Amino acid sequence: MTDTDPPQGPSDGKSLPLFFGSEIYRHSSYGAHHPLRVPRVSTVMDLSRAMGWLPPDRYRNSPRAKPAALTIWHTPDYLSALQEAEARQEVSPETRDRHGIGTVSNPIYGEMFRRPATAAGASLLAGELLAGGGVIYHPGGGTHHALPDRANGFCYLNDPVLAMLSLRRAGAQRIAYVDIDAHHCDGVEHGFAGDPDTLLISVHEDRRWPFTGALSDDGGGNCFNLPVPRGLNDSEMALIRDSLILPALHAFRPDAIVLQCGADAVEEDPLSRLTLSNNAHWAVVRAIMDLNAPRLLVLGGGGYNPWSVGRLWTGVWATMNGLEIPDRLPPEAETVLRALRWDKARRGKNPPDHWFTTLRDAPRDGPIQDQLRHDLGRLTARLSRW
Ligand SMILES: [Zn+2]
Repeated sequence: MTDTDPPQGPSDGKSLPLFFGSEIYRHSSYGAHHPLRVPRVSTVMDLSRAMGWLPPDRYRNSPRAKPAALTIWHTPDYLSALQEAEARQEVSPETRDRHGIGTVSNPIYGEMFRRPATAAGASLLAGELLAGGGVIYHPGGGTHHALPDRANGFCYLNDPVLAMLSLRRAGAQRIAYVDIDAHHCDGVEHGFAGDPDTLLISVHEDRRWPFTGALSDDGGGNCFNLPVPRGLNDSEMALIRDSLILPALHAFRPDAIVLQCGADAVEEDPLSRLTLSNNAHWAVVRAIMDLNAPRLLVLGGGGYNPWSVGRLWTGVWATMNGLEIPDRLPPEAETVLRALRWDKARRGKNPPDHWFTTLRDAPRDGPIQDQLRHDLGRLTARLSRW
């Protein structure tokens, strides 16, 4: 093997997964009171390195997308407004109303263009690099609420949409998008509803912002939306995985799968009332890996407890690489977790010890709620006719 050969897997000849990160996430904050005041991607980078799971040849620095590259989905006026807001650190009332920036959810902050443009750049590049097949992890991606002309739900640019457009431009015809964030992917559905070459599956908490993605919303036929009740447990997520997500992916036979793996559906997250353990997410990742789709891009998304998001997303990377997650972390990894702070949060005051010493949560299995079984039945019936 020469210096120029791509890293090869040990047995099947496929490339090993790549990790897209960036230092821009490390000290970037949406503001002292915003849920996105906590570090997330930098924790995953630090933990993965502390575990010996992220050698330099598997890491790629995310390139910042040029504004012109973003116009494949976003409007030039909006992109100009974002850049101007970053430069001036203020917006006019007209810009705030038109583009949704400078609000409580989508505040003015130091890297408000550069940070999302970095996540978008990685998503665009991932689509190109996956032209020949492979697996990429991009935990800074997954900003699924952004709209072509507006910021929405903490999201300024819609990197999942940009990734899917890039994948398509690079040869993927049939793209499946699976979203297990606690919130509905309204921006992605806006981008791909009615496209017969795209399958969209979203599992999200019922009666929660953005209040889209109703069970009856089929997006013109290609969208499967499953609002789930409060208290969703691991057993229920396993049923969703095995009776909806995997059968839909089997039926659709995608050239590319994009998995948005938001970490806000776990019990410790402050922004949802779902009660998964991180085992549920890892089991979805493992099952999708096992499908061996030609191209797979795994994105981050929501996740607002710095310990649960860092542990969950580091475990996603381990799962993507078939690495064994130890019961107790080595001291280097524990140091990363002990250095985290979660100010202005009740659960940040006395974090339980296992947030420092483990990656894996205790499983949270439980009964299947009748409503969920009923709603899943409606979607699987649709799937059988699809
Ligand atoms: Zn979310």
